[in-house]
Amino acid sequence: MSETKPSRGFPGAVLKLLRAGDYTLTVTSRRELSPHYLRLGFHAGGMLNDQASHPTMWIRMWFADGDKMHQRGYTLVDPDPTAGTVDIEFALHDGVAANWAKNAEPGDTVDVTVLGSNFGLPEPQPAGYIIVGDTASLPAINSLLDAIGDTPSWVFLEATHEEDKQLPVRGRAADVEWVDRKNNGEALVQAIGSSVFDASDHFGWVACDNRTTRAVAKVLREDYGIPRKSIKAQAYWVA
Ligand SMILES: Cc1cc2nc3c(=O)[nH]c(=O)nc-3n(C[C@H](O)[C@H](O)[C@H](O)COP(=O)(O)OP(=O)(O)OC[C@H]3O[C@@H](n4cnc5c(N)ncnc54)[C@H](O)[C@@H]3O)c2cc1C
Repeated sequence: MSETKPSRGFPGAVLKLLRAGDYTLTVTSRRELSPHYLRLGFHAGGMLNDQASHPTMWIRMWFADGDKMHQRGYTLVDPDPTAGTVDIEFALHDGVAANWAKNAEPGDTVDVTVLGSNFGLPEPQPAGYIIVGDTASLPAINSLLDAIGDTPSWVFLEATHEEDKQLPVRGRAADVEWVDRKNNGEALVQAIGSSVFDASDHFGWVACDNRTTRAVAKVLREDYGIPRKSIKAQAYWVA
């Protein structure tokens, strides 16, 4: 008797039509960076030979929940095309993706689709960056900080747990402020609002939960004076 595969549903059919690249990643290692943050190492199954990577690059990972498959965005950490390996860091909470990661062991596999990630550093180079996120976007922020090198950057990060503040933040020229998550992101919006300066020649990069992302982008536009075209804002999760 053949086993029925969980269905990817309508989103899966659309991605197939768009000729998105499908790969299978295999877990090779796991390292708990904190009780709420896990880094898994993967063999990338040919993905890195076919697809050039860029800062903040993300993929769609497929996780089974009963007879349904759900896709979730995750960011490539230290992709190494020569070795064919990549890490992915998971902020842990109660969800299909996070729970899969909590239980993942070397040898486990996960299907992924590459489509939709397309960020390039702004040209000409901005005077500086204002970067806002949380533990879900920390992998993207670290890859962005690596890419921008010595350009000054102001980084605001939302912490849900005290241990979040010990997670490694890269960036030689980064000024980093952790803000405890309170009132569904309102404390972060206030902290950013109380550090306002004329940043009209800066670039803004924002990835928090949906409501906080919208509120922060508004502060960057209206109070910091960053033009809309110089802000990349994307909700990374739905609160
Ligand atoms: C482009 C992109 C790149 C991303 N890269 C990463 C990454 O590298 N690492 C990473 O950890 N996440 C990343 N995310 C976020 C991740 O896709 C979401 O957090 C996703 O919702 C997790 O799926 P889940 O199945 O675990 O939880 P869901 O089933 O989506 O949600 C279950 C419950 O958990 C809550 N929840 C979901 N995410 C979070 C969170 N981060 N913090 C607190 N509560 C949460 C929801 O509100 C809900 O109540 C990225 C998202 C995008 C769009």
